[in-house]
Amino acid sequence: MAEQRFATSVYTSRLRRAAELTAEAGLDVVVVTPGPDLRFLIGSRAETFERLTALVVPADGDAYVVVPRMELAALRDSAVGEAGLEVRDWVDGVDPYALALDGLGVVRRLAVSEATPALHTVPLATVSDASPQLATPVLRRLRMLKDAAEVDALRQAGAAIDRVHARMAQWLRAGRTEREVASDIAAAIVEEGHAEADFVIVASGPNGADPHHEVSDRVIGDGETVVVDIGGPTELGYNSDSTRTYATGLVPDGIQDAFAALQRAQQAAVDAVRPGVTAESVDAAARRVLQDAGLADRFIHRTGHGIGLSVHEEPYIVAGNALELEPGMTFSIEPGIYFPGEWGARIEDIVVVTDDGVEPLNVRPHALTEL
Ligand code: ZN
Ligand code: ZN
Repeated sequence: MAEQRFATSVYTSRLRRAAELTAEAGLDVVVVTPGPDLRFLIGSRAETFERLTALVVPADGDAYVVVPRMELAALRDSAVGEAGLEVRDWVDGVDPYALALDGLGVVRRLAVSEATPALHTVPLATVSDASPQLATPVLRRLRMLKDAAEVDALRQAGAAIDRVHARMAQWLRAGRTEREVASDIAAAIVEEGHAEADFVIVASGPNGADPHHEVSDRVIGDGETVVVDIGGPTELGYNSDSTRTYATGLVPDGIQDAFAALQRAQQAAVDAVRPGVTAESVDAAARRVLQDAGLADRFIHRTGHGIGLSVHEEPYIVAGNALELEPGMTFSIEPGIYFPGEWGARIEDIVVVTDDGVEPLNVRPHALTEL
């Protein structure tokens, strides 16, 4: 089985940094329940249930975990053991929230990870003197700036989804339903190196005009565009996400011209990526090209989203986001054009900001590929 986490030293240094940032944010403690933040900090794939499992990161002192004794096995794959973290296991009848904060003194400023449900947040408030805040200020930069190993994990995810797109002609053709094609793609996503298929969008003809369409029983016609947007996590938990638009035979000139403008817009946005420029300027680069082509009102969503342990995370490539890009940020560039009732198209690559520019992690051709 493939390696499921990085070396333990990676997690101990992340935990150290998280504690420093907790102190800098003026917080007493950060509580992280199962989800991408927990996987980032200790490599745990534990899930959230009604019983509290949490990593507790005090501003002062060592981090520890609180876990139901019956779910101790779920921590086995994580870095908890090798990193020597204290484990506070508990059995039904014990108050796990009091256990989580025991020994910290009076807790007035407590933050929880974004994935922490109200089910656990409210009881934490009750046993402390705190109104819980989001731990976003502590974890945002740590999650957003990928180190070399994380970029490599995303590079492998990108190569895996590229291999799936490379096989598209095996499955995608007129006469089959979107659902049949999607089921073959889902199997290939796993075959080519993912832990699972997280999403498979096959949007043919008019369905391509709906960015949120997934699949249907529609029979794909001849000479239609088909938007295929697919991805999933690798064993390390880092996600792929790539879109290509295909054509089942020759499509009308109008579609080809609009698609060519979309290609130029996507390329312009990729070319705009480098350290020091703002996220919104990358969005504007794509939008400007579509505006010049008279397609501005057909591009109805942001240009991209960050990606890592979550499919959608910061930074968001969107108007109004003045965040300056830095090396190690990874996100999608995915402009689309949508003609309700007729057709739609989208091109999506994941890119990483490098020291002096950009590296695309998806390298399949962008052209409207006739199958
Ligand atoms: Zn996508
Ligand atoms: Zn995406």
